[in-house]
Amino acid sequence: MEYCNKRNMTIRITVMLTLLLPHTPSSASSYFHITKPALRGGSKSSRRWMNVRNGEHWEIPYVVEDLGPDSSTRIREAMQEIHDNTCMRFVPRILQQYYVRFVRGSECSSQLGMRTDEPNTITLSTHCETKGIILHEIMHTIGFHHEHSRPDRVRYVRIVEENIIQGQAYNFKVLPWNEVINYGTGYDIASIMHYPEWAFSRNGQNTITAVNGGELLGLQQDSLSKTDILQINKMYRCRKCEDKSNNCNKSATTHRCKRQFKVRKACRKSCGIC
Ligand code: ZN
Repeated sequence: MEYCNKRNMTIRITVMLTLLLPHTPSSASSYFHITKPALRGGSKSSRRWMNVRNGEHWEIPYVVEDLGPDSSTRIREAMQEIHDNTCMRFVPRILQQYYVRFVRGSECSSQLGMRTDEPNTITLSTHCETKGIILHEIMHTIGFHHEHSRPDRVRYVRIVEENIIQGQAYNFKVLPWNEVINYGTGYDIASIMHYPEWAFSRNGQNTITAVNGGELLGLQQDSLSKTDILQINKMYRCRKCEDKSNNCNKSATTHRCKRQFKVRKACRKSCGIC
């Protein structure tokens, strides 16, 4: 993605703005607002979307407000990536009590975990309309902190404070282990939740480097990483989606999936159950 193209300063600045906007001091309180202690997870203290179960899926109702067709398309692409790899399903809201709103704003921001006092709001400025950034914000809503906030990040990356815009250093703070759980996974530079190396730079110089001061290798902001997928599946206790029979390509007809429990049990994937 363009983030890593150092020669294209226009794109760098545009995306830098994108990353700056969600974490302005005025939005910080809502951005990190934590509703209530809940189950274990990437964020230990945020609430999970485990109140609406449909088969093997957890449903997250959503509405898209005041956004154009391009934004809606990118939102659907981001959701599809979640659907393809996890047991989370975004469904258009009808009357559900808890849901996510995608709205236009001047920042790219999201709240952490499921809120019960008001709808979760994911705010997207015109600079945030990429699948990767929307995936990043959705991950906050699902319950994940930034990867570079992990307590063990000091072994992998170094924060260059003198290059950070004044007043923005809090975006790089390390969270304690009593707030973060890694599900046994290692530090993941490729996580969609990891900032690029120039995030919040005041001078164009890198704000995050490898621990030896060198370049960060493996950054990407396009898709969920393998570890992102693993962590979502562990957080929400998703079952692996697979068939238990080699005959499912023949036996899992729509009729039999609907009528025969034995087929549904053996052919969960082919019957579209998971
Ligand atoms: Zn973020």
